[in-house]
Amino acid sequence: MPHSFLAYRHRPEDYWRGIILFGRNVATYKFALGRALLDLRPEAGQLVTLEQLAAPYSEHLCTHIRLAEKQGTSRESRFLAACRRANAGELSRQQLIEQTTRLGFNNVIDAFHIVGRDEVPLRFFNDERTRGGGIRITQGFSDLVNRDQSPNLSLETDARWRLVETAWELGVSPALLAISRDPDTEALFVIDAAKRRKSITGARAALSGYQKGHCFYCFEGLSLAGPEPPDVDHFFPHTLKSVGVGTRIDGVWNLVLACRRCNRGVAGKFDLVPSLRLLERLNTRNEFLIASHHPLRDTLIAQTGKKEDQRRAFLNAFHTSASAALIHEWDPVENAEPLF
Ligand SMILES: [Zn+2]
Repeated sequence: MPHSFLAYRHRPEDYWRGIILFGRNVATYKFALGRALLDLRPEAGQLVTLEQLAAPYSEHLCTHIRLAEKQGTSRESRFLAACRRANAGELSRQQLIEQTTRLGFNNVIDAFHIVGRDEVPLRFFNDERTRGGGIRITQGFSDLVNRDQSPNLSLETDARWRLVETAWELGVSPALLAISRDPDTEALFVIDAAKRRKSITGARAALSGYQKGHCFYCFEGLSLAGPEPPDVDHFFPHTLKSVGVGTRIDGVWNLVLACRRCNRGVAGKFDLVPSLRLLERLNTRNEFLIASHHPLRDTLIAQTGKKEDQRRAFLNAFHTSASAALIHEWDPVENAEPLF
C-alpha cells in the first residue's frame, strides 16, 4: 500500500512522507535524522559532517526520551544510553555531540531511504562518511525544502514519532491500543493501563501526511502552522450520532483534514453525506493509515475490520445508513488534480 502512495507522482514530499510515515520502525533514529535535516536546511551539494548533524539529531532524541523512555524495540544502544546521561546532566553538550558522532549514525544513514524492501527512487543525501566524514546533500533535498508542503513536514515527522514511541512505551498489545481524538484540543490520545488519558500529538499533524498535506475533499494545499489551520472533519457527519447511526463516528477512520471552505464554506459539506466517490477516497486514505503500522494500523483495524474487504463492507454499510438518515449527498468542486 505505501507503494500506491508513492507511485502516484514523483514529487519530493511523497518520497519524504514514504520514508517518515510508512514502514515498520525498530528505532526512532529515522525521525531524528529527518528532523535534524529539516532544521539545518543544508543546500544541494553541501557536505554535512556527522558533527554538524549530531547537535540537532541528539537534541531531538533527548527531547523524545523525556516524553517516552523507549525509543527502540531492541536492547538499549550505547548511543541512547549517552542521551539519557545527557538528560540526567551527567554528560556535557560537547560530550554528547562527540558520542553521537561516534555512535549515533551507525544504521540510520544506510537505512534512511529504505521503504519496505527497497530505496525510494529519490535520495535526499548520499553517504560520504568514509571520504568526507558526513553526508552530501542532493538536489532532491533542496527541492523538498523549497516546496509549499515543506513547513508541514517537521510537524508530521514529530507526530509520527510520538505515535510510534507511545505505542512502544505503553507496551500493551497493539490490539488494545485505540487512538482517540479530543475535540476540544484536537489532540490524539490513548487510555493507558491505569485508565489514564495520555495525550500523544495533534490530530492535524498526525493526519496531514496521509492526505499528502492537502484538503481531503478539494485537494487544496493545507498549512498546519498557518494562521488558519485546517478543520479536523468527521467524514460521516457527527450529527448521525443523535439518530443512532454513528456509534463509532469519532474513530480515526472517520476523521479527515479539510479546508474551511469545504467543511463550512458557502457550498460546504456541513451535515451532508459525502458521495460514493469520496467514500472510495476515504477507503484509500484509511488503507494508508493501515500501512503506517502501529498504532494507527491497530486502531483502524479495531474500528473497521481485520481484512480489506471487511473494511470496505463496513464503510459501505455506514454509507447506506447515513444516506437513509440524512438523504442528501455532497460532492466538492476540486481545485487541483486528485492526489489520492
Ligand atoms: Zn477543501
